[in-house]
Amino acid sequence: MPDRIVFLSHCFLNSQAKIQGSPDIADLRERILKILGEHKCGIIQLPCPELLHGGVSRWGQTKYQYDSVFFRRHCEKLAETIVDQAEEYQRHHIPVGPIIGVEGSPSCGVTLTCDGSWGGELSGNNNVLNKIRAVKLVKSRGVFMEVLQLSMGRRSITLDEIGILESDPDKSLHKLQDYLSKEKMLGGKKYE
Ligand code: SF4
Repeated sequence: MPDRIVFLSHCFLNSQAKIQGSPDIADLRERILKILGEHKCGIIQLPCPELLHGGVSRWGQTKYQYDSVFFRRHCEKLAETIVDQAEEYQRHHIPVGPIIGVEGSPSCGVTLTCDGSWGGELSGNNNVLNKIRAVKLVKSRGVFMEVLQLSMGRRSITLDEIGILESDPDKSLHKLQDYLSKEKMLGGKKYE
């Protein structure tokens, strides 16, 4: 039996959900699974909010675009069964967390998200390159992660989060490793 339950962003297990043309993360997936396996974690795969909204051939978008009441409602519906599961495991005193997100994602970023005032008609727009260059990484959370924690909060559930930076994962993987080791020593008590 697993020692604890973690919530893992969808595309770490299924990178086909990512924007087409995204860098290959096969090696990163193996490294994450190795750490979670060594710490006897049960893994719940979070849904991919963007795939379930825009499909496989969606364009890359920014938080500015996804931060609409419509996308938030979509995320709220997806969050519901995740929160239900967290509550049920906690009710049975099974340690839950962290939520493992994807740094830089407009949906699943934990401390970093991709933002910029995107949108509008592209054809005939001579300013497209400047628009693309205006997209940047900012210190903020992705929309799905915001909604998920708000939904958890409404049920008085607080889960820790760790974001993995795919372009430079060593530091974040070390943080994950360190977190799980300390949690083991604490016997499932809140990690500080
Ligand atoms: S980061 Fe989130 S929204 Fe983006 S592909 Fe991964 S699971 Fe889907």
